[in-house]
Amino acid sequence: MSVKIQSFAAFGLDDSIMRAIDEMGYEKPTPIQAQAIPQVIAGGDVMGAAQTGTGKTAGFGLPLLQRLVPTANTSMSPARHPVRALVLTPTRELADQVHDNIRDYAKYTGLRTAVVYGGVDIKPQAETLRRGVEVLIATPGRLLDHIESRNTNLSQVQVVVLDEADRMLDMGFLPDISRILKLLPQSRQSLMFSATFSPEIKALAGNFLRSPKLIEVARENSTARTITQKVYEVHDSEKMDALLSLLDDDDCEDAKQILVFVNSKITCRRLARALEKEGIKADSIHGDKNQEERTKTLEAFKHEEVRVLVATDVAARGLDIAELPVVINFDVPFNAEDYVHRIGRTGRAGAKGVALMLVTAGADDKNVSAIEHLIKEKFHRIRLDVMPHRRSPARGPRKTYTPPPVSPVSSDPFFNQPYEPSEEALSRPQTPSKSLSSSKSSATPAKRKAPVAALLGGLIRK
Ligand code: AMP
Repeated sequence: MSVKIQSFAAFGLDDSIMRAIDEMGYEKPTPIQAQAIPQVIAGGDVMGAAQTGTGKTAGFGLPLLQRLVPTANTSMSPARHPVRALVLTPTRELADQVHDNIRDYAKYTGLRTAVVYGGVDIKPQAETLRRGVEVLIATPGRLLDHIESRNTNLSQVQVVVLDEADRMLDMGFLPDISRILKLLPQSRQSLMFSATFSPEIKALAGNFLRSPKLIEVARENSTARTITQKVYEVHDSEKMDALLSLLDDDDCEDAKQILVFVNSKITCRRLARALEKEGIKADSIHGDKNQEERTKTLEAFKHEEVRVLVATDVAARGLDIAELPVVINFDVPFNAEDYVHRIGRTGRAGAKGVALMLVTAGADDKNVSAIEHLIKEKFHRIRLDVMPHRRSPARGPRKTYTPPPVSPVSSDPFFNQPYEPSEEALSRPQTPSKSLSSSKSSATPAKRKAPVAALLGGLIRK
């Protein structure tokens, strides 16, 4: 049933929250917000099948704050500021982005917010947690570290949110999630959001949520309707020239920010360097960069000092750049669901976006079919006859770009980001892998996804 709520005033949100919404410039709720906000305020569990960029953070963040406003206080005692709402996210970038939003929404409520994730110094996070915080956004591994060090505890959590739950399962976080869930009170409210809706996600929802209300704002596994998708067929050796042509072409020529996705860290580094040599302001963001470097690169991209940002999937989730106009898949993702997430970086919150993809006939066919099956759309492939790209004489002769060997990306839960083999491993003879296609891809047997029901055995809620 569609809900027609045209203004935030209709939700009866506290004045302190309404003031923040006003300041954010949100005029009316997005469809997911119109459905989720009343349901979460009422206290029920929610399963949100929401696409990226639909405004789902406010969909759960605003009502979650509404539920906590009565507990806000100015006491200096940490005991008066227990964690009352916990948001779990798969990546540091997403954690940061969710926290930025929730901190803005909570600005006038008097509630404290904090974010914790791995890869950065744990001490400042520990100090913040010990002072007390009502709303905590966290990646699972680092949260468990803090719990073990007794920097925080979860015994007073009223609301828990699993954001981008599909990604958390893909990244092998299920054991961590089930450990965390066991530490929460039974009488809590649970919300789960996922852009894609696989059988594993349904199983997790079945175990984790109690009579959830299903909220869907788009057809299952569809891509945002505001995104124009184009697929270009090129030979593998022409991909660099094809990219340069596309960057000069109608879809990109006026774009000040272009996000280019590749499948490996090595391609990421090399492609960014090759683009720079072409005189294009480019940089890369991937798992080998530390958090500080990533943040710096992102800021430069957001401020349009970098025009083309080349990224691996680690950047696919958390990035929220207002009105990002173009996303290019230089490589077809190995995991079909990553396609949905990658192109979800454009066309956000109703803005128009363009998603281009380079496809090599034969080599990419299996992965392209998996995407078509997932999004229930057949791509029309445009044959791109690539002329060797004309360089300005000032740039001098261009070195030939050789695409590096690429292995299937799989998950390394320890580092919270896609696992990739080292350069040394890549240079070793490769044995053929059977795990190229979509969600079946896995790393070593030890890192394979554990069966949902087995891991959540102790958690089944009646
Ligand atoms: P999300 O899907 O939560 O990542 O949100 C995507 C973008 O939409 C963010 O930049 C939000 O600030 C923005 N946004 C969320 N809700 C609204 C709204 N009601 N009106 C306008 N923009 C919004």
